[in-house]
Amino acid sequence: MRLLMAGSPGSGKGTHSRRLSNCLGIPHISTGDLLREQVALGTPLGLNAKAFMDRGDYVPDEVMVGMIKDRLADPDADRGFIIDGFPRTVTQADALDKMLADLGQSIDAVIVLEVPVEEMVRRLSGRRTCPTCQRSYHMDDDPPADDERCNDDNTPLERRSDDEPETVRHRLKVYSERTAGVIEHYDTDSVVKRINGEADIDEVHRRIDEALGISGSAVRPPVQSG
Ligand code: AMP
Repeated sequence: MRLLMAGSPGSGKGTHSRRLSNCLGIPHISTGDLLREQVALGTPLGLNAKAFMDRGDYVPDEVMVGMIKDRLADPDADRGFIIDGFPRTVTQADALDKMLADLGQSIDAVIVLEVPVEEMVRRLSGRRTCPTCQRSYHMDDDPPADDERCNDDNTPLERRSDDEPETVRHRLKVYSERTAGVIEHYDTDSVVKRINGEADIDEVHRRIDEALGISGSAVRPPVQSG
């Protein structure tokens, strides 16, 4: 299956993409994670991207398109993929269409997680992430066992710099201005599956499975929020 996971910041794209990736045995390709890896490595691409990310702005299209093109060329993407956080602009969507057409491939479904704005702000402001393993928590909904440390490796949890309240508001504005048109881009192909994402994680999992026509996924990995 070739899937896109769409939805605004805080809608649960990462959580549901990781779960589907495990269930379906296809790679989870998160452009946010790929960028954060480059930032952590201190590469020129990472240093350039960090300035955009810290402000809550989008990284330029040509950088993102190049990054996805390289990632889709990796052998594991041959058996399908779930892309989380790309395309975020119509230019990126057009570039992805062309890339896939050149490979004789197409998208099977675009999952759009719909969550009200107040809930997205609540989720993002309570989110904490482990810088070692990237597992994420929510301080109210899914807190770590030991105060602010990761359950898996005991690393002190961090708040992502772009989850500060001011930046969150800017990210949501950028999303509504620049990404709404991307969903319309796919609407014409009838591949868009709109999912009400305001429910507990298991219920949203169930709704996604139903929309994709995959029956109650047997594999349930440990639940992570974010
Ligand atoms: P995410 O983890 O998906 O929320 O992404 C974190 C940040 O990375 C975003 O706020 C953007 O600054 C940047 N980013 C991730 N994916 C894209 C994309 N497809 N286009 C532009 N910027 C992106």
